[in-house]
Amino acid sequence: MKVLKFGGTSVGSAERIRHVADLVAPRGKNIIVLSAMSGTTNSLVEIADYLYKRNLNGAKETINILESKYLKTLATLYDRHESREMALREIKSCFNYIRSFASRDVFTPVEEKIILAQGEIMSVAMMTILLNERGYHAEALPALDFMKTGENGEPDSNAIALNLRALLDKYAEADIYITQGFICRNHRGEVDNLQRGGSDYSASLIGAAVEAEEIEIWTDIDGMHNNDPRYVEGTRPVHELHYEEAAELAYFGAKILHPTCVLPAKVNNIPLRLLNTMEPEAPGTLIYNSITGPSIKAVAAKDNVTAVKIKSSRMLLAYGFLNKVFETFEKYRTPIDMIATSEVGVSLTVDSARFLPEIIDELKQFGTVTVDRDMVIIAVVGNLEWTSPGLETRALKALHDIPVRMISYGGSDFNISFLIRACDKVAALNRLSSTLF
Ligand code: ASP
Ligand code: MG
Repeated sequence: MKVLKFGGTSVGSAERIRHVADLVAPRGKNIIVLSAMSGTTNSLVEIADYLYKRNLNGAKETINILESKYLKTLATLYDRHESREMALREIKSCFNYIRSFASRDVFTPVEEKIILAQGEIMSVAMMTILLNERGYHAEALPALDFMKTGENGEPDSNAIALNLRALLDKYAEADIYITQGFICRNHRGEVDNLQRGGSDYSASLIGAAVEAEEIEIWTDIDGMHNNDPRYVEGTRPVHELHYEEAAELAYFGAKILHPTCVLPAKVNNIPLRLLNTMEPEAPGTLIYNSITGPSIKAVAAKDNVTAVKIKSSRMLLAYGFLNKVFETFEKYRTPIDMIATSEVGVSLTVDSARFLPEIIDELKQFGTVTVDRDMVIIAVVGNLEWTSPGLETRALKALHDIPVRMISYGGSDFNISFLIRACDKVAALNRLSSTLF
């Protein structure tokens, strides 16, 4: 059994939904995970925002616009009148449900989550009816019945596996299963979600729960590229990546795969394959426990980074300094990305500057603090094991005329990171591409 996940653009119109049905139907008894049609979740967020602000007209208007988009999709999605009528009933009931929140007195995050869940629920309803129309016994598995998060907010993999296996047993006769990405229930049993872009994570958790043979993530790009196609010409898809390399790339800006998605696949040793709905024959990117020789495979950039330097003469021969610095960041729940240390100071980067004023204020107890904003991390990713000489020098050489604020290497065998100014990013990515690939 495989898990096949299709993102918002892959189900973004009647034509695209039909195309996905063409792709999945002949492939047998797999689990299909769907996102909401592209733009839907953003509209639902907007609707919720109007409801928070008690702007009921704004909410209703946005609901109407979104609904008309769905009705237009249904007009050409099906061949049979009965299928269209059935889908119309489902879609209209979702929109009426969303509308019902406009007549309630309170609007809380719980209601917001229910509204956000409707996009994926509608995708699954439309696809299930379409596959049934084509003569397949497609069974919709409601993610709200099996996808659970625990008290810590993290997915509860034991519960997910138990629930999902029970559902698969119950519908053992089905030809194919369809389910919603992104949505779940939290430990209180309330509707919740796995954060924006979380459908990839759903697919990976489902793959782990059923010990899938493979998890396929279908998008509109032919896999992970060796550099950012928005800034560099002639980038190419990387055909094979180790889980760790893929995680670094996903985290550092290759938007194609959600970073959280790699871990469940890696832990359970399930290959992840990134494929292009518009070009289904293309090989895409296969992410697995691949062991290749020393090589640099790809480059990615992470924007909006802030660097903080704490210089302390007392760090010299002292212990506990770094601990105090880290505790300050922990207190404000601000993750640190990159670190570089010397005998007299430490530099680190954060991508959330939300609590920076408070953090800086506290850090001043331990040393002199300076901040550099508008920075970018350039990550060079590949099998960069330290015993293979020359790889880091090649990357550094490419950046010979670009001011580098920080360098980090050795944290893993798969990444060397450079912190540069945002204004140098495009030049750096291009220099790296022409030198390395
Ligand atoms: N529909 C959700 C979002 O737009 C989840 C996803 O597509 O992955 O964030
Ligand atoms: Mg996505």
